[in-house]
Amino acid sequence: MLKGKTALVTGSTSGIGLGIAKALAEQGANVVLNGFGDTVAPQAEIAALGVQVAYHGADMSKPSEIEDMMKFAAARFGRVDILVNNAGIQHVAKVEDFPVEKWDAIIAINLSSAFHATRLALPAMKAANWGRVINIASVHGLVASAEKSAYVAAKHGIVGLTKVTALENATTGVTCNAICPGWVLTPLVQKQVDAKAAALKLTNEEATRLLLGEKEPSMQFTTPQELGALAVFLCSAAGNNVRGAAWNMDGGWAAQ
Ligand code: NAD
Repeated sequence: MLKGKTALVTGSTSGIGLGIAKALAEQGANVVLNGFGDTVAPQAEIAALGVQVAYHGADMSKPSEIEDMMKFAAARFGRVDILVNNAGIQHVAKVEDFPVEKWDAIIAINLSSAFHATRLALPAMKAANWGRVINIASVHGLVASAEKSAYVAAKHGIVGLTKVTALENATTGVTCNAICPGWVLTPLVQKQVDAKAAALKLTNEEATRLLLGEKEPSMQFTTPQELGALAVFLCSAAGNNVRGAAWNMDGGWAAQ
């Protein structure tokens, strides 16, 4: 379905980003990966799906590096057809204790990076009259939790950016939507399970059940594969007129 298209997924060396990159590659899209840590294994996983893969190590908190990444993608593949703004970090503390540098980093990586990548991707998408911008927000783009001020502010912000981007391109073949996952068991969430286990002297299993029980009625994690399937739908022809949506996949979290 996506043969000949190019997808750039930020923060795709791990977790949700890698899951979405694989789902798009399974549909034939060539992929530009980004992110830190092991960059070799994720590239091999994508290449094994029979598509072309490239990697750029831009630090998404730095606009100049994002510009370099977008130029790199255009030089390698012609243009970016599908942009998935996924890179994100978390820090948990009360507002009055929140480290200022963590606030700045979360706003830069979880929100401003999407603005920069989107503004740089849009001209080529509009020229081709086809494009997909998919912002990985969170259920925290729709509702709040205590001790996550920067994260909740950034995720509400990215839902707003999604709507504006959708509206500005509503008469074109370029759509923009947000995906709002509940808990997904990735390294970002395992750190929060570990913190709970240490603070309350619980096993990993007990802390996991407590984490799910506090917020997610289904008592189940959403998987990167499920999120990948939703991204594929948004890229399909059936998604042509889905514009400005913030689609939660959260086990009923936001329904409460
Ligand atoms: P993860 O920690 O597994 O992956 C994060 C990715 O972002 C990694 O590839 C990492 O290298 C990359 N990254 C971090 N800082 C970066 C930077 N400065 N520049 C470039 N890349 C950077 O986390 P995840 O859970 O897969 O999260 C992915 C996205 O999904 C985030 O935006 C997160 O807020 C969102 N999300 C996660 C959950 C969840 O439960 N895990 C729920 C809702 C939303």
